[in-house]
Amino acid sequence: MIYETNAPEETFALAKKLGEEAVPGTVFTLTGDLGVGKTVFAQGLACGLGIDEAINSPTFTIVQVYDEGRMPFYHFDVYRIGDIEEMEEIGYEDYFYGDGVCLVEWAELIEELLPENRIALVIEKDLEKGFDYRKITMQEVTE
Ligand code: ADP
Ligand code: MG
Repeated sequence: MIYETNAPEETFALAKKLGEEAVPGTVFTLTGDLGVGKTVFAQGLACGLGIDEAINSPTFTIVQVYDEGRMPFYHFDVYRIGDIEEMEEIGYEDYFYGDGVCLVEWAELIEELLPENRIALVIEKDLEKGFDYRKITMQEVTE
């Protein structure tokens, strides 16, 4: 499934809809360069889950937990991960195989740990189509 957006609000709205429809145990992975809109997407998803709190990139904690929504929301940003061991240390399996919704920014850095079933999103720019254009590819993965 391919979506195209032309403003951050559109990416937010798309993610919000996915958040509204999400069921417990869903893991979303996000791939895309710095500044492409991964955190905007995370904010929309959180909004769709009923979370009003501000969502920032959990850059220094790997995972940020939000408990106030329809179900727990686990927001990962593994950009600065040094060693895959760090994922073991935070007990990532409790999140990936728990009853909340996970979103993993920079998921390609922990590819080998990703669950077999997940929804993979790739966000890309195309400057020929404008500075705010984003192509968002969504694929359900079942390994
Ligand atoms: P990332 O988390 O991928 O590093 P951010 O979500 O923090 O990126 O930042 C994305 C930036 O791009 C924001 O400043 C946002 O306003 C801007 N932007 C412009 N157009 C879009 C779009 N179509 N979708 C998402 N973000 C967009
Ligand atoms: Mg980010």
